[in-house]
Amino acid sequence: MTPGENTQRVVVVGAGPVGALAAIYAATRGDRVEVYELRADLRDPSTTPLNFTKSINLALSERGINAMRTARAGNLLDEVLNETIPMHGRMIHGRRKNDQLFQEPQAYDVHGRFIRAADRAVLNKRLLDALEKMPNVHFFFNHKLIGADFNTNTAWFEKRDRAKRTDHAQNPTSNDGSSSEHEDSISSRAREIAVDFDFLIGADGAHSATRYHLMKYAQLSYQQEYIDALWCEFHIDPRTSDSSFAISPNHLHIWPGSSFMFIAIPSNDKSFTCTLFAPSACFESLSRDPGSSLAEFFASNFPGVCPDLISATDLLQQFRENPHLPLISIKCSPYHYQSSAVILGDAAHAMVPFYGQGMNAGLEDVRVLFDFLDRHGVYNATCPDPAARQQARCEALAAYTKQRTPDAAAINDLALRNYEEMRAGVVSPLYKTRKYVEEK
Ligand code: FAD
Repeated sequence: MTPGENTQRVVVVGAGPVGALAAIYAATRGDRVEVYELRADLRDPSTTPLNFTKSINLALSERGINAMRTARAGNLLDEVLNETIPMHGRMIHGRRKNDQLFQEPQAYDVHGRFIRAADRAVLNKRLLDALEKMPNVHFFFNHKLIGADFNTNTAWFEKRDRAKRTDHAQNPTSNDGSSSEHEDSISSRAREIAVDFDFLIGADGAHSATRYHLMKYAQLSYQQEYIDALWCEFHIDPRTSDSSFAISPNHLHIWPGSSFMFIAIPSNDKSFTCTLFAPSACFESLSRDPGSSLAEFFASNFPGVCPDLISATDLLQQFRENPHLPLISIKCSPYHYQSSAVILGDAAHAMVPFYGQGMNAGLEDVRVLFDFLDRHGVYNATCPDPAARQQARCEALAAYTKQRTPDAAAINDLALRNYEEMRAGVVSPLYKTRKYVEEK
């Protein structure tokens, strides 16, 4: 659909997966869409690679897939799914009493349904590529939201001439290392611009500036919690002999460790992206002298990882070089202010990653939001004048907050509980019984 005289001007803040999908939904309904993103275009090869700040791959499930299916954006979903790897279940790794290593597959679904390993940057790029093809979408990279008036519908952005660098190892602040408040300027000549909008969608992540400004208008209740766990990323290379996957590509691998765990998710280049989750005290203790403690810690807790899958040298180097990041959980309500603005994704409900649903739930926000906007007639021909449309949007946003807040809070709680399940509960009763018999 192309914009006409009566089209709304929709400003999307944040071009992460959720903001990009929201922009697609608005653009396919004929809105004039402007996407403002703090960072440079991640498709630009000179941009700092995403894996510097973010977990490289993640689990994509039906929640997120359905939101892309419903986007009506050509073959977007096929393009995304073509670059994913099916994960049919968990693979639990451990050591028996007789010192033998074991792997125990646990299917996700009795009917064979599965989740998929997706490269976060590739998925984000496909969404941006789809947006690029739409004539009613305009990108503004290197633009940081710095202020908003949700009564006059004006937002202010700082336009940077050059991208900024963030030192995440020094300033770990969020789940994903994004620390917009702690930027270490390379060189920037910032310029402020004011932008008017009919409707603003804030999808600017866990440390959302939109949410911060929204708080001054909506009576927004807000709760944030840092859990006592840090995460650090590691990498398993393809097998040197034949460049194949070193372990089964169709599982999410878990080495449960009771109070900590190590997981591995397959990537298209036949490597695995792995994550160590552990209490901060454990990271502190390992950091004191990793040269002598790290390999031993892995040998006793995550059997078969080092040196079989990651050499002791690589393990040490990755532990030293990759940031040790905290995990934040955020709940707030309402998600909107009158007809002017709404927050989606991590901006509204950042969650710990143990349920693999943070991005999926954020993508689902987009589907649910536009379902409410459609049902309230915001895009109907019978809603032609701006005042009627504004009223319809106001009712749609209130209905959205009412339905979505408890749903997102429930996923948030499940994510917290699943940490216990993944690091300890996954050791199945079958294995426990077998171990018991062996011990007898
Ligand atoms: P983000 O991805 O954070 O994007 C926000 C965007 O807004 C960024 O591009 C940022 O640069 C921009 N921005 C920020 N501030 C401003 C500003 N002031 N002005 C303009 N732009 C701004 N989820 C899953 O579904 N499955 C998984 O398996 C999974 N695994 C995870 C593993 C780990 C270790 C972690 C940390 C998270 C995981 N998640 C997973 C969660 C997932 O990463 C997030 O839920 C998802 O990235 C949220 O998307 P978003 O678009 O809302 O926010």
